[in-house]
Amino acid sequence: MYIIFLGAPGAGKGTQAANMARKLNLVHIASGDLFRQALEQGTELGIKAKSYMERGVLVPSQITIDMVLEHISAPDGEGGAVLDGFPRNLEQAEALEKALAQQGKAIDKVVYIKVSKEELLKRLSGRWICRQCQTPYHAPDSPPRVWGKCDKCGGELYQRPDDTEESVRKRLEVYSAETAPLIDYYGRVGKLVEIDGEGSEAEVDRRITAALGGER
Ligand code: ADP
Ligand code: ZN
Repeated sequence: MYIIFLGAPGAGKGTQAANMARKLNLVHIASGDLFRQALEQGTELGIKAKSYMERGVLVPSQITIDMVLEHISAPDGEGGAVLDGFPRNLEQAEALEKALAQQGKAIDKVVYIKVSKEELLKRLSGRWICRQCQTPYHAPDSPPRVWGKCDKCGGELYQRPDDTEESVRKRLEVYSAETAPLIDYYGRVGKLVEIDGEGSEAEVDRRITAALGGER
């Protein structure tokens, strides 16, 4: 089973995709996390991606496509995956479809998490993320129990360098121009499931579970 999580920066894709991957026993492939890991490790991929990420624009599609497809065809990803942050434009969506089709596979569902722009802006300013397990926290709405430390794994919390006001504005612009058209694209082929992304993490989780379960 292959499920795509679609939504604006700050919509909660990462959190919900990770939860759903755990429940369905699928690998969670998050393109942004893969780029951030490459950056921390100082690999060639990380060096290539750095300036794009800082500016909040998309990393060139071919680099991204190669990286994600490599994970999908690795043994872990072969039985299915939850894709988070990919595809992010039509070119990536078409490349993914083609690569899956070559292996006799296809996308099953696309979960679109919808959140208002005001809420997105609020969530992204004040966001702190665990360096180890990527769990997000929010000051002041959902702070960790101990300031600076992850509740789940004790990892160090940090603010993403692209969560500055300017990068956030740019990321939202890029999302509207390049990624939002995918909502129509997957809607037309009947794969889109639209989920209200406002409310608590648990509430959104229940909505997604119901929507996916109800159709299987
Ligand atoms: P968010 O959805 O909060 O903006 P991500 O962690 O998904 O954050 O992505 C961070 C950055 O990584 C993006 O702004 C972009 O530069 C790069 N990136 C992630 N996924 C892709 C992708 N599929 N195509 C191109 N660039 C990507
Ligand atoms: Zn953690």
